[in-house]
Amino acid sequence: MNWYPWLNAPYRQILARYQEGQGHHALLIHALKGNGESSLFYALGRWLICQQPEGIKSCGHCHSCRLMMAGTHPDFYQPEPEKGRLSLGVDGIRQIIDPLYNHAQQGGAKVVWLPHSELLTEQAANALLKTLEEPPERTYFLLGCREPSRLLPTLRSRCLYWHLPSPDEAVGLQWLRQQGIEGAEQARTALRLAGGAPLGALELLQPARWAERAALCAGIGNALARRDFLLLLPLLNKDKDDEPLYWLLSLLTDALKWQQGATGFMINQDQLQLVSELGTRYQAGALHHQLHQWLGCRQQWQAIAGVNRELVLTNQLLNWENGAPDGRTHPWTL
Ligand SMILES: [Zn+2]
Repeated sequence: MNWYPWLNAPYRQILARYQEGQGHHALLIHALKGNGESSLFYALGRWLICQQPEGIKSCGHCHSCRLMMAGTHPDFYQPEPEKGRLSLGVDGIRQIIDPLYNHAQQGGAKVVWLPHSELLTEQAANALLKTLEEPPERTYFLLGCREPSRLLPTLRSRCLYWHLPSPDEAVGLQWLRQQGIEGAEQARTALRLAGGAPLGALELLQPARWAERAALCAGIGNALARRDFLLLLPLLNKDKDDEPLYWLLSLLTDALKWQQGATGFMINQDQLQLVSELGTRYQAGALHHQLHQWLGCRQQWQAIAGVNRELVLTNQLLNWENGAPDGRTHPWTL
């Protein structure tokens, strides 16, 4: 598994507690997608399960390390949703809980790694909770989550919460350069769109994905020039892909920053021309109105199952087209 430089400090900090024998049996790491927390979990799991760790590293040659490298360690559990299911049910959790109360098959520690705790059904989370309250001997739970608020508060309270922040922008930029990304403005933009997460930025910078964003930006420029906003419909109407809408929202907020002279804080550093066009064409009130409308649109997508995206988008684009630059809208568009 790959290792990333921004994980060094958190790895050492978390491990120090285990080295002192004070490590918590349940660790909950909260991280944004694209910060490489899987590598951090794996390294911690390797160290906990290694029979002769050398300082902060697993030895790499004991029987446990060899089983881990082969992906066949019997005391390393990684419960996943059943095939075709999006959530992790109580049966899947019970299957791993029972053997935890037996001796470890390799005589060392047992590790349960749950990368996405949000996938637990309420019943499964309650079953896990009971185990966390009375943990079996030498058993460690490594839990990951993107949104702690979606977890049962009782489950959260049983874990040691650890927030893994995105690295400083300079660190992310340097890493992207090492991955062969050229163009500081592009790299900075992708990094900011990904909330500072370097792996997220790299994914976004892949040619096909980056071209989709470029097409949306060009499309907004065209829509403004021709006053035909329905041109944006195919660029925004992507099946279950909300990111193009997020890109649009980021351009609208950037236009507000541009109006305030805060260009250094803009996300889309590679689209100054487009942002200044938006900032010139619309007054702040109109931009706020659009932002509000688009957020409502996204909420409908997320909250209503089977919503007709095309209809919602068409309505919103026509509202934008007919909206006055000062934020007022014609009565018939309301
Ligand atoms: Zn080892």
